[in-house]
Amino acid sequence: MSTALAAATRAADGIEKHRDLNAVIAHDRHALLAAAAAVDTRPAGVLTGLALAVKDNICTLEYPTTCGSRILEGYRSPYEATAIKRAKAAGAVIACKSNLDEFAMGASTEYSAYGRTHHPFDPSRVPGGSSGGSAALVAAGVVQAALGSETGGSVRQPAAFCGVVGIKPTYGRVSRYGLVAFGSSLDQIAVFGRTVLQAGTLLSVISGRDQHDATCADLDPLTPEPARKDLTGVVIGKPREYFPADLDPVIRKACDRTLARLKEAGATIREVSLPHTGLAVPTYYVIAPAEASSNLARFDGVRYGPRHGDGRGDVRALYRATRGAGFGPEVRRRIIIGTYVLSAGYYDAYYGKAQAARALIRQDFDRVFGEGVDALFTPTTPSPAFKAGEKVDDPVAMYLADIFVCPVNLARVPALSVPIGRTGGLPIGGQLIGPDFSEARLLSVAGVIESLVDGTAEVA
Ligand code: GLN
Repeated sequence: MSTALAAATRAADGIEKHRDLNAVIAHDRHALLAAAAAVDTRPAGVLTGLALAVKDNICTLEYPTTCGSRILEGYRSPYEATAIKRAKAAGAVIACKSNLDEFAMGASTEYSAYGRTHHPFDPSRVPGGSSGGSAALVAAGVVQAALGSETGGSVRQPAAFCGVVGIKPTYGRVSRYGLVAFGSSLDQIAVFGRTVLQAGTLLSVISGRDQHDATCADLDPLTPEPARKDLTGVVIGKPREYFPADLDPVIRKACDRTLARLKEAGATIREVSLPHTGLAVPTYYVIAPAEASSNLARFDGVRYGPRHGDGRGDVRALYRATRGAGFGPEVRRRIIIGTYVLSAGYYDAYYGKAQAARALIRQDFDRVFGEGVDALFTPTTPSPAFKAGEKVDDPVAMYLADIFVCPVNLARVPALSVPIGRTGGLPIGGQLIGPDFSEARLLSVAGVIESLVDGTAEVA
């Protein structure tokens, strides 16, 4: 069997076999195999043989785009995202739309209107979020790579929980055209792969300038560096704020072991400080809801998706009925918080302050990278995958799951998560953070980690 069709068949079988994960919102076996057969009639591209899972907040022509929300049930986009167009042009086929926290708001994939996604190794646990469906499908081996999105860590955090590679590019590296907006100053399409090479190849295909997105950088697509073994001359910073005294000892051990390997490979390890790290979670949870409250105003029952209400009353009654029926609790919470922090009396106290704090967080990164640090190494998450239900009723506990990932989104720099070991069978992720547009270097350092650290071995 030729390549695309073989990959598509494996993915379709895997989706069937792993139904219990509830990682998939939409899939059509027949259409997938037909698309793959068509790909096989064309000359092979760099992604020929790749069946891709796509987070359901990225617009596709093949499937509806629901954002995991009732408010977009059955909604079909009239166009597809630039990232999708490019992946398909390179030979990829879209295996399915994957589950997510509603409108990408969450850290566990429990806030989806289509039910929670299960962790692929332990169904009582969460796969992380909000791109949990994509992460679980890659970890279960259903697909080799997937697209997700990041506003505040939603690819790196589930990548760490599921033991796969996740890369969040620099803001502007990848077009946002066709990614449903959540926090526009933070949002990026981001990638998962089983290996650093797969994730890097997918990222290079979807990156580069796009006339449909004015915030996309005027740069050529990313060119990955050749694999390296020797890190002589590379300075890796270890930021003390990411290794607090109460850090999970197994996660600390996994990180120390990885840093020791990097040193053996020739890298210089330098202790550094990013003093405003502690401001990141509160800052993020002002800015992201503020932007969300504005972006989600468009879902009103008139322009997209189903319409609710009895048809009597004024347009406000229609909005109330549609939004009341369509949005789940976390999305409502964000809209209320966002509207509040933007309101006339509180704008300076919250939104204005958060913007100032965001600038300080960015300055921390600029300073360490200006002082000769090539990349920072940190844990991706403060704990391995947690139990379903553990944080779902405690929004602040859920928000704190983003503590090591969301500073990066505020600063707009690139970062990735790579598996660095396991504890009790659960994966642990190590994070590399670099200066703007340093993805190629981050990928090459991650490749060294991948070759020297057994990401599937127990740490303890
Ligand atoms: N946990 C973050 C949030 O809930 C992550 C969002 C994201 O990156 N899409 O906002």
